[in-house]
Amino acid sequence: MIKTDILIIGAGPTGLFTVFEAGLLKLKCHLIDALPQPGGQCSEIYPKKPIYDIPAYPEILAGDLTDKLLEQCKQFEPGFTLGERAETIEKQEDGTFIVTTNKGTQHHAPVVAIAGGLGSFEPRKPLIHNIADFEDKGVEYMIKEPDMYRGKKVVIAGGGDSALDWSIFLSDVASEVTLIHRRNEFRGHLDSVEKAQELKNQGKINLITPAEVTGIVGDHHVKAVVVSQAEHIQKEFEIECDHFIPLFGLSPKLGPIANWGLEIEKNAIKVNNALDYQTNIPGIFAVGDVNTYPGKLKLILCGFHEATLMCQAAYQIINPGKKYVLKYTTVSGVDGFDGTRKEAPKAVVKAID
Ligand SMILES: Cc1cc2nc3c(=O)[nH]c(=O)nc-3n(C[C@H](O)[C@H](O)[C@H](O)COP(=O)(O)OP(=O)(O)OC[C@H]3O[C@@H](n4cnc5c(N)ncnc54)[C@H](O)[C@@H]3O)c2cc1C
Repeated sequence: MIKTDILIIGAGPTGLFTVFEAGLLKLKCHLIDALPQPGGQCSEIYPKKPIYDIPAYPEILAGDLTDKLLEQCKQFEPGFTLGERAETIEKQEDGTFIVTTNKGTQHHAPVVAIAGGLGSFEPRKPLIHNIADFEDKGVEYMIKEPDMYRGKKVVIAGGGDSALDWSIFLSDVASEVTLIHRRNEFRGHLDSVEKAQELKNQGKINLITPAEVTGIVGDHHVKAVVVSQAEHIQKEFEIECDHFIPLFGLSPKLGPIANWGLEIEKNAIKVNNALDYQTNIPGIFAVGDVNTYPGKLKLILCGFHEATLMCQAAYQIINPGKKYVLKYTTVSGVDGFDGTRKEAPKAVVKAID
């Protein structure tokens, strides 16, 4: 059982900034995210796009913003459960919560902050009749630990950046990489397409286009995939492999959170924005893109503001009756849970001769 002060569901920009604001109040955070990496939409959908409306950054790439948020909250030593979806929540008699993921990991906290954005990103699955039989038995829709493919035969399907980038990366790790796409053209960054072409020419990536994987062969684990190619005449053949990784993108779904008894309006969670972004269930807050209230704007800076106010309310739940006096970080400095201390240089009193 993972124990923490604030359990944050969603490691997007709002969730990551919550860790920092909570840390200032000496509250520890743990984050759950369905994706294998933090950053939410910024890292999953548009890491290389510049954002122009983050205060004090005239321009910053979404991927760089994620890196900066991680750097800023690192001193507060957040815990992460990545690649798992928060599935159920149970309120305990003492008012605390136990949240369990789809993989069975349990988390216990007095406060839950849902920073789930548009919802948990679920993979788009190809229509292959027996694919569900091989999930986690050689079929993976996301790459969490690239090293597990070392020395293995891997088939990747897809025509976007993920399929290209992972084919390129795994060409140095796996014993054989085959990339299959239903069109001849790839929709990705030019340098990724060119690199894949170069690796194909060197014989490091087998490219099969236009083609589709239509079946999976194996007993308890993937042994081969069935490929259909219809360039001139329809032909079908098998490719031996240990892993089949379809990378057809992810689509967000509010998913299990919608059944937690929270008040939902237009696929978002209603909160009390006049006060602290608490939901209809005391102790459960919703911040960032996932919430709704009159005048709501789904912008990163709004998520930061909401997270800041929410942490004050979380402090009161965790430390009932204890008064918190807001101090500027320029005055109080920042004491990390890792023993580091940041503070502005102190003024000295010294005579000038
Ligand atoms: C192309 C594009 C461009 C954009 N440009 C801008 C811009 O210029 N300026 C701006 O301010 N905003 C912009 N946005 C919007 C901005 O990205 C969002 O406002 C921001 O990402 C919201 O952050 P968040 O942390 O609330 O949610 P998200 O970034 O959506 O993160 C939520 C996380 O929660 C996880 N999650 C959800 N449910 C569960 C669950 N049950 N279990 C586990 N994990 C779960 C998801 O996997 C996800 O990682 C843009 C968005 C897009 C798509």
